[in-house]
Amino acid sequence: MSVDRNTAWPYDEHGEPREFVYQRYAHPTGKAAEDALGALEGGDALLFGSGTAAVTACVFALCGPGTKVALAAGAYYGTGVTLSELARWGLEVAEFDQTGPPPGDADVVWVEAPANPVLTLPDWDALRAHPARVVCDATVSTPVFLHALDEGADVVLHSATKYLTGHHDAMLGALVTREAALRERLFEVRLRLGLACSPDSAASLLHGLKTLEVRVRRQTETARELASRLEAHAAVERVRYPGFGGLISFDVAGDRARAVETGLTLIGNMTSLGGVRSSLESRHRWEGDRIPRGLLRLSVGLEDVDALWADLSAALERA
Ligand code: PLP
Repeated sequence: MSVDRNTAWPYDEHGEPREFVYQRYAHPTGKAAEDALGALEGGDALLFGSGTAAVTACVFALCGPGTKVALAAGAYYGTGVTLSELARWGLEVAEFDQTGPPPGDADVVWVEAPANPVLTLPDWDALRAHPARVVCDATVSTPVFLHALDEGADVVLHSATKYLTGHHDAMLGALVTREAALRERLFEVRLRLGLACSPDSAASLLHGLKTLEVRVRRQTETARELASRLEAHAAVERVRYPGFGGLISFDVAGDRARAVETGLTLIGNMTSLGGVRSSLESRHRWEGDRIPRGLLRLSVGLEDVDALWADLSAALERA
């Protein structure tokens, strides 16, 4: 579909608004991409200017001063940073181990399936037994491997910058819910806080979704093989891989991590994840002592598995 970049559309012949009025409310490419993502997730999707904009919208829609948010430990570092920005507005945030039950007094439980970069999974039975609202960041699973609304989440969050668009060429976030009132609230927050996405980013999502399933299945196949080769490598102390998806974290001795990163040629030494090109980085660089110095996060792309292994094993041996 062609991308309509208009920021405003004419009223109808009676002077009344048509479906699209002003781009901050909604736009045709965004609507088409929301319909496509909503169908995959089994809910109503709304797009945002980034995953972080989606985090912000979620907090404004679900929380207020004094709301207690229990956040999965080891989840995307930036989510904790964004939530802590709101501490001065009265938000209370505490981390918990998502492999067990959330704290009893939490109003909102924020899990990540799996957590980036430690790759733990939430305990869905414990979440269903808890009265709190559940937000599930499913960026790393994608709807190919997880339907979090079916598991009991109230809202599913994606940084669509990652696997959903899949080519490292768009900033985009998404929230999906089945509750009409919550969808309306999220829409209102997006509008009033100016968190909408651009038509071009929405077009990237429409393109990305066409190949999502084949991309992430192939990435999983390659990641499984690389995870087992890494397990057997003498320089690797620990492999964290949940068994699906294209993300692997593995630990080397802390003082060797930088040499592994910079010794790569095929795999990009860069941040982000979920693209067709493999990328790797030390997360200690961003997260400090929250994450072991030697933890390297590898986002497996679509390159040949043996070519990836040749690059990785050569860097490990030289480090
Ligand atoms: N959630 C997860 C799991 C992420 O990995 C990221 C970014 O790395 C975000 C949310 C934030 O998304 P964005 O960078 O699109 O704002």
